[in-house]
Amino acid sequence: MTFELPKLNYEFDALEPHIDARTMEIHYTKHHAGYVANLNAAVEGTQWKDNTTAELLKNLNALPEEIRITVRNNGGGHWNHSMFWSIMSANDGSGPTGDLANAIDVTFGSLDKMKEIFAKAASTRFGSGWAWLTVNANGDLCICSTANQDNPLMSDLGMCGCTPLLALDVWEHAYYLNYQNRRPDYVNAWWNVVNWSAVNALWVNAHTANNSGCGCSCTCSS
Ligand code: MN
Repeated sequence: MTFELPKLNYEFDALEPHIDARTMEIHYTKHHAGYVANLNAAVEGTQWKDNTTAELLKNLNALPEEIRITVRNNGGGHWNHSMFWSIMSANDGSGPTGDLANAIDVTFGSLDKMKEIFAKAASTRFGSGWAWLTVNANGDLCICSTANQDNPLMSDLGMCGCTPLLALDVWEHAYYLNYQNRRPDYVNAWWNVVNWSAVNALWVNAHTANNSGCGCSCTCSS
């Protein structure tokens, strides 16, 4: 097995009442596990089996055509869900701190305004997809959404190539048991389970990693 389901740092019921245990269990053990299995099957026996998921997603056009769409969908699914789990935790009442808090204020006006723009991106994404807060090599923040399991890393598909700081799954499987058609209620509730310590760490890492390849042309801010 090349790719593996990451360990969850909390129990399935840890995010209740905002995300219910049954949704978490199905989402993790069925949906995410399925993406991992499909990704492994796609790269098995190819030279790509030893690459990281991020490397695959940043080089989709270099992949053999017969596995490209499978890797896009299932590699994207694996990467997106791994990030999603890692930036959530039981409510600790925290928020962005330090430079990130400052950058959010400067870019969007306030944390509440950023949440409002993010929620709009999440709520207006038609069908299945993800909402993102990202940062580029210059430290500029941007909010966007992508379809299906696409993500900002997929620069070969015309995505920005920026580093995601927040990722919100807005596929119906992420909320339908508890919220049915009320996606905006799920989006609002989700802020209660964001692990801002993890988000802050991603922000710090984005400024120390070599991001010189980022070709961000995002213009969406406020
Ligand atoms: Mn999902």
